[in-house]
Amino acid sequence: MDTPNQMDLGATLAHSRSGLRDSHRRSLTRLMFTVTGTALTVFACLQLLNGAWWVGVCELLASATLFVGVWRLEATPHLQQWIYLYLVALFSFFLVIMILPNASVAAFVWILMIPVLAYLLLGKREGLILSVPFMLLGGYFYVRHLGTVDNPGIAIDLLNFVLCASLMLAFVHLYEIRREEAENRLVTMAQTDALTGLPNRSNFQETLARTLAESERSGADFALVIMDIDHFKLINDALGHDAGDRVLRHIASRLQERLRATDFVGRIGGEEFGLILRGVRPAHAFELMDELRQVIAEREVRYGEARICVTASFGIAHWPVHGRSAETLFSMADRSLYKGKTSGRNCVVSAEPKDTFHARDILAGGAV
Ligand code: GH3
Ligand code: MG
Ligand code: MG
Repeated sequence: MDTPNQMDLGATLAHSRSGLRDSHRRSLTRLMFTVTGTALTVFACLQLLNGAWWVGVCELLASATLFVGVWRLEATPHLQQWIYLYLVALFSFFLVIMILPNASVAAFVWILMIPVLAYLLLGKREGLILSVPFMLLGGYFYVRHLGTVDNPGIAIDLLNFVLCASLMLAFVHLYEIRREEAENRLVTMAQTDALTGLPNRSNFQETLARTLAESERSGADFALVIMDIDHFKLINDALGHDAGDRVLRHIASRLQERLRATDFVGRIGGEEFGLILRGVRPAHAFELMDELRQVIAEREVRYGEARICVTASFGIAHWPVHGRSAETLFSMADRSLYKGKTSGRNCVVSAEPKDTFHARDILAGGAV
């Protein structure tokens, strides 16, 4: 029933930060640690050769910490803390090399790197919060480095710096906004059925898995319902696929209209819908679904001149009486639906409390 790839897409995109899934952020951070550690080792050697002992030793210690980080990052649950530690230490290091007595003006180019790294690893909000104070401090040190702005050459240098740094921050921020919007659209598309606008099968399965986990914690009942339109093929055959689509959209609207805020509905197959009714007793779930069945049966669907009468059959299974896993509940609900189909359709069938799922029953009965 579950295909891990399908389940993965929406969820991992939803949980991603700064456009990178956690596993990608982890490997990118490890790469950055490796590159920074190697660069620091080279700089440390040069500083030692240059006679700047304390700087050289500090850089060697920092690069050793980074290499330990490369190893720790492989499995640490504290990825975010490591990233913060790394960025704060790195940005502070940029500031330190700007205020060294014999600092080169080239050291100030690192200010432009601050928003790029912060946004890449932390995303828009946290990236902005971390970048701004470090960039402002860098700007302050640059102004101090220039001394008094008493000639046009220095004024041009200052303007170049301010403009370039501000534009860099603005562009990175804008890019991140656009990227987040595109990602959100992608997440919605990955989780939505294009025809009806309802959550699709993988979204439904994820929600069912979450509901199961919540119920295991809280003990709150819920019902899983599978609803299947009766003789839907006949509509397609008689009036065409477009009429069938019209009916599917109509049914989706009726389902959305009738359900409570705590319920969840998705399109789980061609003309099959899944419902999760939270916090209901079996008798109440039956009543709710029977009401829905009546609404569907009573409302005709207009398609041009044609008026289409549709009915649907419902199979219900309850957590925990009919099963504690998604697979068992699906099988039980499916079996109830099958009973409804064989006993004339347009009905609601709830699994009996004594019902338990046996694969041999399916083989013997040809169900599901
Ligand atoms: P039953 O009462 O036993 O459920 O019969 P049925 O005709 O509803 O079921 P059957 O499985 O025989 O046919 C389902 C049909 O649904 C076949 C398929 O072409 C059609 N279908 C599946 N997805 C779509 C869709 O997105 N749009 C349209 N128009 N038809 C679809
Ligand atoms: Mg059907
Ligand atoms: Mg079907």
